Amino acid sequence: MLSKQIALVTGANKGIGFEVSRQLAQTGIKVLMGARNEKNGLDAAIKLQEENLDVEFILLDVTNSEHIKNVREYIEQHFGKLDILINNSGMISSAKKVTNNSVETISQKALRQTFDVNFFGAVELTHELLPLIKKSNAGRIVNVSSIMGSLTYQSATDGYKPFAYNASKSALNQFTIHLAAALKNTSIKVNSAHPGWVKTDMGGPDAPMDAKEGAKTIVRLATLESDGPTGKFFHLDEEIAW
Ligand code: NDP
Repeated sequence: MLSKQIALVTGANKGIGFEVSRQLAQTGIKVLMGARNEKNGLDAAIKLQEENLDVEFILLDVTNSEHIKNVREYIEQHFGKLDILINNSGMISSAKKVTNNSVETISQKALRQTFDVNFFGAVELTHELLPLIKKSNAGRIVNVSSIMGSLTYQSATDGYKPFAYNASKSALNQFTIHLAAALKNTSIKVNSAHPGWVKTDMGGPDAPMDAKEGAKTIVRLATLESDGPTGKFFHLDEEIAW
């Protein structure tokens, strides 16, 4: 089996996930770029291959259990291990309509859809891939969260409060804490990342950071040395409150 490091990035066809794929591949890591839309995923992978980067597209809708199993089988057969898992896929429900995001009015459907992508998808994928991550000698799991999921931050601000998104990211943070604790006697590190407010389809055009900067926190946590932190929440080099 190959000794080259292998990473899987979910939602890698655009935005922060695309840039994380580029930056990881630039360090010599082979990157599997997960995307739920075949054409968008292939186009994204071709763009990075044209930069001479070692990436390939893999079909992955994180709400599709068949896709998740196929991804596990593919990685098992071709690489025998997974070194880095970036749970980056995310959605915010009908962001333009404030009522669709209010805690008082959000529909059960929107709430469940958001949790399916932002929380259950990440948990199911991680469960499926954990045996392969345990075969790495330096497994790294990064859950792409948001400051919006910080209970400390939310309880101190009257700002924009999209309920489904924020609650799903708080739940994802619990997953980080619980998984890091469960794996504390292994070499695997599990952390949550807040990328910052980033100019992407989700972040919108007014965001102050570009995707290149937005990828930095995630790439740092994906490539932590063996004495690096686990079970923490970071923005760039700074630990932030849960
Ligand atoms: P984008 O909307 O640009 O990208 C989101 C990615 O997630 C897309 O590739 C999208 O695929 C994918 N995705 C959505 N649903 C699924 C699914 N069911 N299965 C697989 N992939 C899926 O957003 P960003 O790049 O900005 O966001 C990336 C992460 O960063 C998210 O987790 C987000 O919550 C987080 N974040 C972003 C911030 C920002 O300011 N931008 C701030 C804080 C956190 P498709 O193209 O097919 O829709």
